[in-house]
Amino acid sequence: MKSIPLCDLKKQYLNLRQEILETIDNLCLESSFIKGPYVKEFEEAFIKANHASYGVGCSNGTSALSLALEALGIGKGDEVLLPSHTFMATAESVFHVGATPVFCDIKSSDYTIDPADIEKKITKKTKAIIPVHIYGTPCDMDKVLMLAEKHNLKIIEDCAQGHFATYNRQYVGTFGDAGTYSFYPGKNLGAYGDAGFILCKSPNIEERLKRLIDHGRLDKFDHEIIGYNHRLDAIQAAILSIKLKHIHEWTKKRQAIAEIYNETFRKIGIKVIESPSNKRSVYHVYCIEVEDRPQIQELLKKHGIQTGIHYPTPVHLMPAFDQLPKARLDVTEHISSKILSLPIYPEMDLKEVEFVTERIKNYVA
Ligand SMILES: *Cc1c(COP(=O)(O)O)cnc(C)c1O
Repeated sequence: MKSIPLCDLKKQYLNLRQEILETIDNLCLESSFIKGPYVKEFEEAFIKANHASYGVGCSNGTSALSLALEALGIGKGDEVLLPSHTFMATAESVFHVGATPVFCDIKSSDYTIDPADIEKKITKKTKAIIPVHIYGTPCDMDKVLMLAEKHNLKIIEDCAQGHFATYNRQYVGTFGDAGTYSFYPGKNLGAYGDAGFILCKSPNIEERLKRLIDHGRLDKFDHEIIGYNHRLDAIQAAILSIKLKHIHEWTKKRQAIAEIYNETFRKIGIKVIESPSNKRSVYHVYCIEVEDRPQIQELLKKHGIQTGIHYPTPVHLMPAFDQLPKARLDVTEHISSKILSLPIYPEMDLKEVEFVTERIKNYVA
């Protein structure tokens, strides 16, 4: 029997194998393990590819978030607004800098943070907003920017799922004071281990980030501030440079698959995520909303089709956040029992896409 995974990293590796192995071999022969030319090359290429001005690589997407918050001066006593419909790391990072996360609801049309709820939750203590481009769908950046300007708030865009998604034809991650990225292996641009990135708007913030990432220094022993070791690993940077050359072609394949899914599911009355013409999703996750999720999951599993749930428990209901006042987030809580993620990855062929849509069509009929 055919088996269709949610994502197939081995298939992608086999296409790039020789180039990757040769590059790692050279890196080892040069002993360029920490900082050095491979890191510099990827940093420059990623900043340029996003049409950004400043940025720096780091250890992972979670450190990228907390480093961005710290570099922008967010800390103890500050409130940070963010969606609860996200991966745990977004909220964790707020705790890491000693600030308090305040959870906002999402819009039922595309699951991105609801600007109307952001406005309701702004207090005198609010210092920043973290819009998350969840599943690769851009947030309503016009409205988020307007609110941030009106209330003097920083914006840190969580782009861990949104590499090269566009809003009004501009790449996400370049709207806010900072845009943070994860290159976790399964992300649209994935390393072969942990890695992350922070894009930013100002050279001063870039310098502070560089210092925080490497023990407070830029040169060997100029430790001006207390920092961390959150450097981007050179082997990961070398792999990412190779993969970066393919990201637009991979994104187009994801978008083509999503288009087939969208068309099929709309026709049979299954709710899909809306995509207005000024937003171009990169479909890190392809998600449908269904009433009988367990049955559909079971059926697809029987046919060898892997599914996922992103995420089964909204972050504000996690035991780890019991210490916070209980918020009620209607849309977030409502969809968490209905969302279902289907296989989507650039190497997925059209026969496989059709195999998935046919199973669901037959079920609904
Ligand atoms: C993956 C992810 C992160 C964390 O990235 P890591 O590299 O795993 O630390 C943060 N936010 C979101 C939305 C993510 O999907």
